Amino acid sequence: CLHYSSAAPEFRERTLIAVKPDGVQRRLVGEIIGRFERRGFKLVGIKILQASEGILANHYHDLQRKPFYPALIRYMASGPVVAMVWEGHNVVKSSRLMVGETDSSQAKPGTVRGDFSIHISRNIIHASDSVEVAEKEIGLWFHGAELIDWETKDHTDLYNV
Ligand code: UDP
Ligand code: MG
Repeated sequence: CLHYSSAAPEFRERTLIAVKPDGVQRRLVGEIIGRFERRGFKLVGIKILQASEGILANHYHDLQRKPFYPALIRYMASGPVVAMVWEGHNVVKSSRLMVGETDSSQAKPGTVRGDFSIHISRNIIHASDSVEVAEKEIGLWFHGAELIDWETKDHTDLYNV
C-alpha cells in the first residue's frame, strides 16, 4: 500500500521551517537541512520560491501593526526563501529550541540563530511557534500534493516503539 505510514499521530506532528533570504544568500540552506536531518526529523516538503507580498502579509498578519513590519516584509521579499515542512515527535517545540531566540543576540550558541546571526532583523530562519500556527502556515506555503508522506524505515531507532 503506497501511502501507508506506520507512524502514530504523536510522531506525525509537522512544522513549517523557512530559510529566510539572508540564510539563502549566506549559503546556509544545507547547514540548516543537515541539522534537522541529523536530529532525526523527516523532510516531507521543500521548495525555493520568491515569496509574494500576499503570502508574506498572510504569514506575518499578527505583526501588521508593529513598527518593524514594513522592514520585515521588505526583508522577506528581498530574495528567495527555502520553505520546508519537517515531521516528527514534538517537532514544533524542538525546532523552536534548535532555531533559538528571535533576537539573535539573545540566541544561545548551538542554535541556528546563535551560531549564524547577530541581529534580530536578519535572523536567518523561521519556525512555526505552535501546532495550530504550523498547520495554518503549512497550508499557506504548500499545496497538499507537495507534501510527501513517506514511511521512515528507522522508526524503532528514533522512537521507543
Ligand atoms: N522581527 C524584527 N524585529 C523585531 C521583532 C521581530 O525584525 O523587533 C522580525 C524577525 O525577523 C522575526 C520576525 O519578525 O523572526 C517574526 O517575529 P516573531 O516575534 O514571530 O519571531 P520568531 O517567531 O521568528 O522568532
Ligand atoms: Mg513567530
